[in-house]
Formats: sequence, C-alpha cells, structure tokens
Amino acid sequence: MKNLNKNKKNISISNFIKLLLKKVPNINLITNKSFKDLTTFKIGGKIKYLIEIKEINILLKILQLCKEYNIKYFILGQGSNILASDKVCKILILKISLDYLKVRDNKIICGAGVNLFKINDTAIKNSLTGLEWSFGIPGTIGGAVKMNAGSFGGEIKDVVECVYYTDGVKIYKKQNSSLSFDYRKSFFTFNNFVILKVVLSLKKGKQILIKNKCFLNYENRRKTQPYNLPSAGSVFKRPQNEFAPVLIERCKLKGLRCGGAEISSKHCGFIVNFNNQAKFQQVLKLISKIKKTVLKKFDIILQEEIIILR
Ligand SMILES: Cc1cc2nc3c(=O)[nH]c(=O)nc-3n(C[C@H](O)[C@H](O)[C@H](O)COP(=O)(O)OP(=O)(O)OC[C@H]3O[C@@H](n4cnc5c(N)ncnc54)[C@H](O)[C@@H]3O)c2cc1C
Repeated sequence: MKNLNKNKKNISISNFIKLLLKKVPNINLITNKSFKDLTTFKIGGKIKYLIEIKEINILLKILQLCKEYNIKYFILGQGSNILASDKVCKILILKISLDYLKVRDNKIICGAGVNLFKINDTAIKNSLTGLEWSFGIPGTIGGAVKMNAGSFGGEIKDVVECVYYTDGVKIYKKQNSSLSFDYRKSFFTFNNFVILKVVLSLKKGKQILIKNKCFLNYENRRKTQPYNLPSAGSVFKRPQNEFAPVLIERCKLKGLRCGGAEISSKHCGFIVNFNNQAKFQQVLKLISKIKKTVLKKFDIILQEEIIILR
C-alpha cells in the first residue's frame, strides 16, 4: 500500500508537545483551562493542549512543526461562535491573542486577536465610520473575518481592505476581492489557515454620530437578545427569504428546555446556557429538535452557524 503521508513523521500529541516545548522557546502552554472558560457559551471540557499565541514567529514555528508531524490543530479566537464538547479536548488549540492595533489615516490595522469592542472604541476615538453595526459582537477581528460577521445591514466584508494570513510556511496577503466573502463565509471557511492581521478601511465621520449609532445598536441588541445569559449568538444561518427565529417561534419551540439549555424566550434564534448548567449534548438535542420540527412544518433545512467542536 502506498503511504500518502510518507514525508510526515508520526508522533503522539503528548510527545509532540514535549518536542514543541524543547524546540520553540517561550511557548505559552496553558494547562488549567477548559472551553467553559474560553467560550461565551461557557460549555465544554478541559483543554489538554492549549497554547496562547502572542507572537507571529512563535505561531509560524508551531504550525511548521504541526505540518511536519501531521498534528491537527484548531484556531480559537474569543470563542463566541463555538459549542464545544464536554469531553477532555486532546487536539491542539491555538488561541490567537495577536493584539497589535494601529491607526493610519482612515485605516485600522489590527492583529487577528483584537476584540471588536476595542476596534470600535478606536474607530470612535478617531472619528472613523463603517463599523457601527458590529458594536456589541463579542468576537475578535480574526473570527469576524472568517465568519464574515454581520448585523444591522452591515458585514465585515464591507470594511476589510486586506488580510494577512499563514499556512505555517509563508505569510500571504489577500485583498478583499479575493477573499470569497459570502453570507457567514469567507475564503477561510474552507481551509485551516490562520489569519494574522487585518487592514480595515473606514471613512471619516462625525464622532458624535458614530458614537450614537454604536450605542443605539448596542441597546437594540440588549433589548432583543439574551445578552445576560451565556450563548454563542444565533445558532442557525438565515435560510433564503426566511428568518430562523421566526420559523422556530412558529413551531412553538420558544422557551423549550433540555436540562440547562434553553431556546431563548427573548430571541429564539439563540440557545442559552441557564445557570451555567447546560451540557453539550443538551444543546445538541435542542438543535436537533429545532431542525426536525422546522423541516417537518416548513420543509426548510436549517444550517448551523455556530461551529461545533465534537
Ligand atoms: C451574544 C452574541 C451575539 C452575537 N452577535 C453576532 C452578530 O450580530 N453577527 C454575527 O455575525 N455574529 C454574532 N455572534 C457570533 C460571533 O460573535 C462572531 O461570529 C464572531 O465574529 C466570532 O469571533 P471569535 O473571535 O469569537 O471566533 P471564535 O468563536 O473563536 O471562532 C469562530 C471561527 O473562526 C475561526 N477563527 C477565529 N480566529 C481565527 C483566526 N485568527 N484565523 C483563522 N480562523 C480563526 C475559528 O477557528 C472558528 O472556526 C454573536 C455571538 C454572541 C455570543
């Protein structure tokens, strides 16, 4: 039988981590965290191999070794779109905390780990308009680019000029037009490349108007979404010409509970984690119930927007 991976070396993940610690100095290996601590859903098991990435050169070395030893990894931003299993996670998790931020004229240049709140704050301070729709989305710019995050008629694709990313071999740059942005999708949906840096191109505006729009959007979110409870935002993508929450409400599923997981009564596109008691399987059961009921009643297949890590 031909060995398709003949250039790759086989090694267990625990031995790989030992090797990594030897070969790459200054690795920030974190051993006491779980997905409960690192996702907004506050669900998920202990993470055995978590590395926080604060420097690009360290990330490049890790990715090169992952390639060489055929080690799978998962990129984590702020964990605001993720539902993770309660089991101990044994794959390598790379948490992107690249927090570089710079303003040049009407551009904001930021590391992929910068939080959208911080970017909005910078935009307000510099009277830059174009990002107000994102005020209150609790993710990093890296996650927002990968998911093409959007709300209130805006999307990240409207303000991205270019993105720097890596496959562990080289650093590449892609302009907006080559990033295949679509509804909650981008070029990064189809690969495991790591976004390093994003250049946002905004417009000069009136500071007070930008600020007011941000706070209005934030108030809107707080009024209509279960902001006080852990969740991963909208569970489903918008089906064509329909709204998932409306379909779910018409199926009379609002408020349905499975253990600590609940289809939010405030916004039934969200599943919330009540009293931090929700388990992974309970959320999956609600997702499955919603999908089956909506399919039966409306003949519509709902697709998950959230990323499920089994
Ligand atoms: C209360 C609430 C409200 C929300 N409202 C909205 C909304 O209005 N609109 C909307 O679009 N979303 C919304 N979300 C979902 C979520 O906040 C966004 O999708 C956000 O952009 C995800 O960013 P993150 O850093 O948390 O990514 P994560 O959840 O950590 O990851 C999401 C995906 O991006 C990948 N990723 C993260 N960083 C990188 C990187 N540097 N390079 C490559 N891949 C990366 C991950 O591997 C994963 O596949 C909401 C979530 C919550 C909890």
